[in-house]
Amino acid sequence: MIAECLSVGTELLLGEIVDTNSAWLAADLAKRGVDVYWSQRVGDNLKRIVQALQEATNRSDLIIMCGGLGPTEDDMSREAIATLLHEKPYVDAQLEVELRDKFARFSRVMPESNLKQAWLIPSAEALTNPNGTAPGWFVRFKQGEKQKIIIALPGPPRELMPMWLNESLPKLELPQSVFYSTIFKTYSLGESHIAELLKDWTNSANPSVATYAKRDGVHVRVASKADSLEAAKRLASPALSATETALQGTIWGKNEEELAELLLTRLEHQQKRLSIVDVGSEGFITSLLHERRNSPVLDFSLTLHDLTKLNRYFPHLEPASSLDTLAQQLAETLNSELVVVLGDFHDALSESGKSIQEAQVGFYHQGKLKLKSLRLPFRQGDWLKERLAFMALSELWRSLEGF
Ligand code: AMP
Ligand code: MG
Repeated sequence: MIAECLSVGTELLLGEIVDTNSAWLAADLAKRGVDVYWSQRVGDNLKRIVQALQEATNRSDLIIMCGGLGPTEDDMSREAIATLLHEKPYVDAQLEVELRDKFARFSRVMPESNLKQAWLIPSAEALTNPNGTAPGWFVRFKQGEKQKIIIALPGPPRELMPMWLNESLPKLELPQSVFYSTIFKTYSLGESHIAELLKDWTNSANPSVATYAKRDGVHVRVASKADSLEAAKRLASPALSATETALQGTIWGKNEEELAELLLTRLEHQQKRLSIVDVGSEGFITSLLHERRNSPVLDFSLTLHDLTKLNRYFPHLEPASSLDTLAQQLAETLNSELVVVLGDFHDALSESGKSIQEAQVGFYHQGKLKLKSLRLPFRQGDWLKERLAFMALSELWRSLEGF
């Protein structure tokens, strides 16, 4: 079965709201073994919604529409389905009673424009909406020899999600296949380098191996589809072991795991305290750690605009020649087992003479010093500081390995 999402609303096209509904639906469909090959967004314009529906029904078996079920004139999903199928909407008596009842329960007068939320067409069945006034539509029809289904769901996610899970899924005969996936999270290698290491697998369709550059490093997803979870795991098994072998020494976590969380857990197990002096990530490294857990192992954290200001807080520190020596001095002063100093970004030149950004990070861990340099092309926004923070976290996490 091929499914397709069609999100309706001009606000989606203007970038005023993000289409989280189709992302959520696509992830749920993938989990259930349904293929999604297309996804569309269209504004509140009847002609274009009908056109989008026509294209969707020409190539997909199941079309899930989100939004456009409101009472106002610019919400036209029902009108579009009716136009596509050449059917005439009518007010369904039962739906009208239920709708008037909902308004009465909240002592509100129902505007007559709301009556279109009680509409049906001959091919549509209503889907109950316990969280709002607009029922959904479950529409079955034939296009040529082929059975097609359009499901129209309300836009607000708190109405859409239960209507999909509780009202729509039981009516669908989904394929019996099961989707299995594992995500490996890596550091230190770039996406193209990893793609090269995994080139024997990245063209395979089932199991599939795909790489994604994320802010905490490159993720590699190994996925498979089969009739049962056991069969899907068996199918994925050679790709899983090939990936683990190829990426040995660069994997820091899997699936839902987060680097900050793993680091805090290691520190807690080893009963070590971490101190941070940060210029380059502008406090981002500390907020990542706090986001996961408020842990006593994060002993000390200072975010500075300029490292030369450090002497104001630590007047006894000697001027250090490099950031790892500074980390060592701080470890003695603060009595921490682990210290990281994130330097500021400055302009530098790459080997090919291009202008880049460079930041140094000094580490101290129980007598050992390390200095790392991060060289990145210039980008606007938070990208540089995020990359620096994640590089520092992964080095810290790795330095605790084997203790
Ligand atoms: P509508 O049913 O088109 O009037 O949408 C009602 C509300 O649902 C919008 O104002 C948004 O807050 C939300 N919404 C609509 N479509 C989406 C979507 N694709 N993703 C996330 N939220 C949405
Ligand atoms: Mg709308």
